[in-house]
Amino acid sequence: MPDLPLDQWVKPEVLAQSAYRVRTVDHRIKLNQNESPWDWSEALKQEVLSRLAEADWNRYPDLVPTQLKQKLARAHGVSPNQVVVGKGSNEILQSLAHITLRPGDTLCTVTPTFAIYRLLGEQSSARVDESVLSTAFQVNATDLLSKSEAARLTMLCSPNSPTGNLVDGDLIARVLTGAGGVVVVDEAYADFSQVTSLPLLKQHPNLVITRTFSKAFALAGFRLGYGMMHPDLAREVQKGLLPFNIDLPSAMAADVLLDHVDWVEEHARTIIKERDSLIDRLNELPGVKAWPSRSNFFLLSTPLGASETFAGLARGGILVRDVSAYQRCAELVRVTVGRPEENEALFKAVKQLI
Ligand code: PMP
Repeated sequence: MPDLPLDQWVKPEVLAQSAYRVRTVDHRIKLNQNESPWDWSEALKQEVLSRLAEADWNRYPDLVPTQLKQKLARAHGVSPNQVVVGKGSNEILQSLAHITLRPGDTLCTVTPTFAIYRLLGEQSSARVDESVLSTAFQVNATDLLSKSEAARLTMLCSPNSPTGNLVDGDLIARVLTGAGGVVVVDEAYADFSQVTSLPLLKQHPNLVITRTFSKAFALAGFRLGYGMMHPDLAREVQKGLLPFNIDLPSAMAADVLLDHVDWVEEHARTIIKERDSLIDRLNELPGVKAWPSRSNFFLLSTPLGASETFAGLARGGILVRDVSAYQRCAELVRVTVGRPEENEALFKAVKQLI
């Protein structure tokens, strides 16, 4: 086939990007994408399916999922007009980049962090200004404050991925006060840290908090997330999403399952306990370091280095994430906390490897 003149058709910023990839191998234990290791019960799945069977499939879903928005608003003590629902929190982040950034504007974030922020900034032809975390993955407050002052959009992740630590709450408040535009606090993993910037919404109309159904809520297969923000900003973020973005099955599943948040909270508590004991045990192995985490994953280094650790665990059927391409993460892998028996298998595999 002939080479296409892609440089005439596609933005240079997109041509320069590598496609988002998740490296996978055959495995029996999946600890690479920070999902819930527990699925919803057969009974609850049947309840969703029977409601879905009664619905009209030939009709468009609600323009926005009103009932779901109301339930989410009630759960977080905000008003429904402060909630915007997306196909994953990724879609909320995409809308924010789309509606705020003009070519040449600045998107501020830190590095290492969730790779999608940079990708979205670049696709909006923005300048991406990253504040580099310390070797202990701490934010340089002065640097972040000065970078966010000049930015139309700032994206922070707390707990951060792939590092697992929180961004200090006082620093978030200072960033919100000084920032040159909207500040996103991505709380995809807040169920595991039990720390949130929600109380800051009242004083800071430039704050957007994003949450996802893909992690503690055990619904990654349905693609749902949401943002909470000032109602006027919510109206604009909604404009950045295409109409009818939320399909009927996703809205219905979330609506049914939101009546079972006890299940979510109980499993999050189990993950927190498992995480802390797994990290402690790994740190007792010679030459192994497991970083402290407030999330459902943690960074791990072994004397073998990232690529051999990934490969060695993969040979034993355990899939983790090689994050060595991230700044400050050379020789690190990221491990999702799984079910107790999976964590035991991971521990034994690391012990055997070294
Ligand atoms: N933010 C962070 C920090 C994430 O790790 C992820 C998932 N990898 C997302 C946002 C996106 O989640 P989703 O689109 O599934 O809601």
